[in-house]
Amino acid sequence: MRKVAVVTGGGRGIGAATTKRLAQDGYAIALSYANDAASAEAIAETLRASGTEIIAVRADVSVERDVMALFDRVDKEWGPLTLLVNNGGITGGMARVDDVKESVLSQVFSVNVIGAFLCCREAVRRMSTQHGGSGGSIVNVSSRAAELGGSHEWVHYAATKGALDTLTKGLAKEVALEGIRVNAVAPGLIETDIHAAAGQFDRVERMASTIPVGRAGQPEEVAECIAWLASPAASYVTGTIVAASGGR
Ligand code: NAP
Repeated sequence: MRKVAVVTGGGRGIGAATTKRLAQDGYAIALSYANDAASAEAIAETLRASGTEIIAVRADVSVERDVMALFDRVDKEWGPLTLLVNNGGITGGMARVDDVKESVLSQVFSVNVIGAFLCCREAVRRMSTQHGGSGGSIVNVSSRAAELGGSHEWVHYAATKGALDTLTKGLAKEVALEGIRVNAVAPGLIETDIHAAAGQFDRVERMASTIPVGRAGQPEEVAECIAWLASPAASYVTGTIVAASGGR
C-alpha cells in the first residue's frame, strides 16, 4: 500500500524534522502550516527536488473547513491516507492560572485539542476498515508537560496536552479493531522556535542543565520516535505515550 502522510505544522521545528524523516521512509507527504508559508514551501521544494511527493497546504487546524480541505486535498492527490502526525501546536505564552486570559485559553484549546480531534476524526474516516479504509496510524505530539503540570509556566498548555493523551488512549481502544494504531510522543525540552514564540528566548539555555541527560533535545530525536511509532516495527504498539525527553 502507498504510504501517505499528513503532518500538521510540518514546516518548522519538530514537524519539519518529522517531514524530512518520513520522506526518507518513502511517504508521500502533505505538510500543513498555519502562517509560515515560506518555511513550509522551502521544505517541500527541497524534498521534492530529491524525489519525494510532497505538498504544502495552508490549514489552521482549529478551523474545521481548513482541516476538511487539507484531508480532501490529500484524497485528490494520492488517495488513502495511511499516517496522521498531529504536530501543530502552540503554548499561548506564559501565565499563572490566576492570570490567564480567556482568549488565550480559547486559542490554545482550539488549536491543541479541538484541532487534534478534528484531524483524528478526518483520519479515522479515511483509515478505518469500518469506513472502507485499509488502516493506518496516528501519532499525536503531546508533551511531558502533560504529566509535569507546567506549573509556573503554562498550566493551560500542559492541560491541552493532558487532553491529547486522553484522546490518544481513548481513540486507540476505539479503533484498535479497525486497523488503526494511535500513539503519542511526549517531547521534553526541544530546541525549536516555540520557546521564543512564548517570549522565552533563553528558556532552552536556562533549563538544559536540569534535564537528566544534561542537554535539550533536537527535533530530529523526536522525529525518530514518531517515525518508529508510525512504522510496522511498532505493529503491536497502540495507546502508548513515548517520552522523548532525556529523562525529564
Ligand atoms: P514550533 O517550532 O513553534 O512549530 C509549531 C508548528 O505548529 C509550526 O509549524 C506552526 O505552523 C504550527 N501551528 C501553530 N499553530 C497552528 C494552527 N493553528 N494550525 C496548524 N498548525 C499550527 O514548535 P515545535 O516545538 O516544533 O512544536 C511542535 C509540537 O511539539 C507542538 O505540538 C508542541 O506543543 C510540541 N512540543 C514541543 C516541545 C519543545 O520543547 N519544542 C516540547 C513538548 C511538545 P507555522 O509554521 O505556520 O507557524
